[in-house]
Amino acid sequence: MAHAIKFHPGMALLEQYAEGTLSADVALAVAAHIDLCPHCQRLSQDITTDLAGQLAQQRVKKDPHDWSDMLAAIMAEPAMAKAELQAEQHKAQRAAYEPIVVNQRQFMLPRALQRLASNHGKWLTLGGIATAKLPAGGEHHVSLLYIDKDTEVPQHTHLGLEMTLVLSGKIADENGEYCAGDLLINSPDDTHTPRTLANEDCLCLSVLSAPLQFKKGLTRLLNPLQQFFY
Ligand SMILES: [Zn+2]
Repeated sequence: MAHAIKFHPGMALLEQYAEGTLSADVALAVAAHIDLCPHCQRLSQDITTDLAGQLAQQRVKKDPHDWSDMLAAIMAEPAMAKAELQAEQHKAQRAAYEPIVVNQRQFMLPRALQRLASNHGKWLTLGGIATAKLPAGGEHHVSLLYIDKDTEVPQHTHLGLEMTLVLSGKIADENGEYCAGDLLINSPDDTHTPRTLANEDCLCLSVLSAPLQFKKGLTRLLNPLQQFFY
């Protein structure tokens, strides 16, 4: 990837991801970001290694004379090698993967999304925007969001958490410009008007814990809009 990713999940989310304490849909967005971001791949590996070390130490500390525990800790180490092997296998699988097609464009998705995205719901379109639900199985609304070039998502605020992972292309709002791999996390305090650039469309993963709340225009027109995005 030519550009540098600027917006990362942050250490707290990466740690919770490694510990397996995130909800499935938030974990999905973090996993997909890690797939796209070498920086967070390294951090995740370090966190996982630390966690494994802590676990092994806890087992040994419990009773230094309990050889079965120490043996178990030593035996657990090859699991790391197994993880590396799996990573290689995933790389091989990626080559055989079918891209997502929307607006006659093909998009390759990160590995973490591929299986789920192959079961996406019907594309619904509104102006230059298209959305398809993903059966992520968590409590949040998870969807693929396609925005055609030179298109604006009406200004909105968030009734809950909004996570947007840019998968392809670029998107900009009042706070900056986001490229493939960037993960935007917006809370109820943030109001923004995302738009695509004049010459490039954009595909995102969207995770919403509550509907968006649109700020401008007639309420009777905005209600269907709210339903469209959620
Ligand atoms: Zn990152």
